[in-house]
Amino acid sequence: IHPADSLVHALRRAVADTPDRAFLAYFDGRLTYREADELSDSVAGHLAARGLERGDRVAILLQNSPHFVLALLGAWKAGATVVPVNPMYKSGEVGHVLRDGEVAALVCSDRAWESYLRETAADSRVRIVLTGCELDFQNRQDARVLTFERLPPAADADDLTAVARAGHKAPEDRDAGPADIALISYTSGTSGAPKGATNTHGNIMHNAERQRTGLALPEAPVYFAMAPLFHITGMVCQLGACLNSAGTLVLAYRFEAGAVLDAFAEHRPHYTVGPSTAFMALAAHPDVTPDHFSSFVNISSGGAPLPPALVEKFRAGFGPYIRNGYGLTECTAPCASVPPDVEAPVDPASGTLAVGAPGPDTVVRIVDDQGAEVPFGEQGEILVRGPQVVPGYWRRPEATAETFPDGELRTGDIGFMDEQGWLYVVDRKKDMINASGFKVWPREVEDVLYTHPAVREAAVVGVPDGYRGETVKAYISLRPGSDTDPAALAAYCKERLAAYKYPRQVEILPDLPKTASGKILRRELRSRPYG
Ligand code: ATP
Repeated sequence: IHPADSLVHALRRAVADTPDRAFLAYFDGRLTYREADELSDSVAGHLAARGLERGDRVAILLQNSPHFVLALLGAWKAGATVVPVNPMYKSGEVGHVLRDGEVAALVCSDRAWESYLRETAADSRVRIVLTGCELDFQNRQDARVLTFERLPPAADADDLTAVARAGHKAPEDRDAGPADIALISYTSGTSGAPKGATNTHGNIMHNAERQRTGLALPEAPVYFAMAPLFHITGMVCQLGACLNSAGTLVLAYRFEAGAVLDAFAEHRPHYTVGPSTAFMALAAHPDVTPDHFSSFVNISSGGAPLPPALVEKFRAGFGPYIRNGYGLTECTAPCASVPPDVEAPVDPASGTLAVGAPGPDTVVRIVDDQGAEVPFGEQGEILVRGPQVVPGYWRRPEATAETFPDGELRTGDIGFMDEQGWLYVVDRKKDMINASGFKVWPREVEDVLYTHPAVREAAVVGVPDGYRGETVKAYISLRPGSDTDPAALAAYCKERLAAYKYPRQVEILPDLPKTASGKILRRELRSRPYG
């Protein structure tokens, strides 16, 4: 099929070909392609009638629900740029995004509007507000698409459900081209204050097309949205790939292992993608069985390190092989992935699992501190050039020049390439621990910790040390019912790692702090009081 220019074009193509196929499945509800097209047309017509112009920004703060998708497609049909915002953000964080993005329209839940966003938005240029329903996924009996229980509509906001059902016509002259900015994606901030990466429609379609052709999924594929749609991985590898292959997207609000397993059993998906922490949570759930995974043709992990031990435990326990994938918000999710017919090698020297190989039109280079390319096998910073790399950060010329010199993305990740073209990510440049001048990469220590049967999650950070400058500290959460102690875990690492690498300090926590997209927040652990 001819590649579409945007996901709106992909939607129209699907409406022409398979109008009655289920596009969105949400608990007991279904929306066909035709219905989603009509409802999102109406959202677009409403936004245009309210004065929204081409290129204006529309922020969406919603969990994975049909409302998210209808608001997104409606905003795009109105020619807008969408700013997806993590609905768990606190007022100050949302305020930053609304002001920085000069957002004109806001779509959020009734509850968020009432509880804090009305006040937050007062200090911004937001002039159009649409509120949708808040769904508590524990309460699934009430979950009928667009009809479940809700708060009374706010007097100062329009009701998203009513707007979608009003039958407005979408404006006709607002189609976006590949160079137009589709999204301003604020990076989730494991490395500081959020900056907006400007993902174009062309960036998105490149990766959506790679996903369609590179996963070996059947006709009418069923995707399960495990990653949040407000994060670029969920947006592109789930929603984008699904629309681009006229598939069905199963939504289940936000990640909760039990609800996800139920949805697997009910909808029998062919594909899902999530951070490795999500797979750890599924594997640790008391009700999980291999049957839950029997419908999957492919499973990918992306956006965070994938410990090789998890891949093996998962395969031994449940069957599927988890495919690694590497990407950043700045390259619109993946820039390297593992093709469907092979498995990623593990580097024999370091024990690191390859993240994948770059696609045919993507060039990955590994450079040293002076910017010179290093030979195969040697570590350096990973640079990416390709059609998925964004043109820059929203209104930050300096940061853009620094991160995208000459259009090439400096990832800030350290990695190496082998002679077969496999890419390995060692760690983030800024996460390196310097213990008495010895470089320690947290990932290597974490990979060892993950081979311990009691370990559910592990995160290793450097903490100040009077003697070594920095010393290695491991934070651990345990698998349910397992029993070990910090000294035993330290001894386990000591047996397997060079003396300067093993964690001198180990602390066990009930859970490790994570970003909304499921990545362990080393930054937050670093700022904990230490002892
Ligand atoms: P910020 O950019 O503000 O730090 P973030 O890390 O959440 O926030 P993303 O763009 O979502 O922003 O994350 C990209 C980073 O995730 C990469 O730079 C890399 O460090 C890490 N990453 C992604 N995929 C993998 C992988 N397969 N293995 C190891 N690390 C990965």
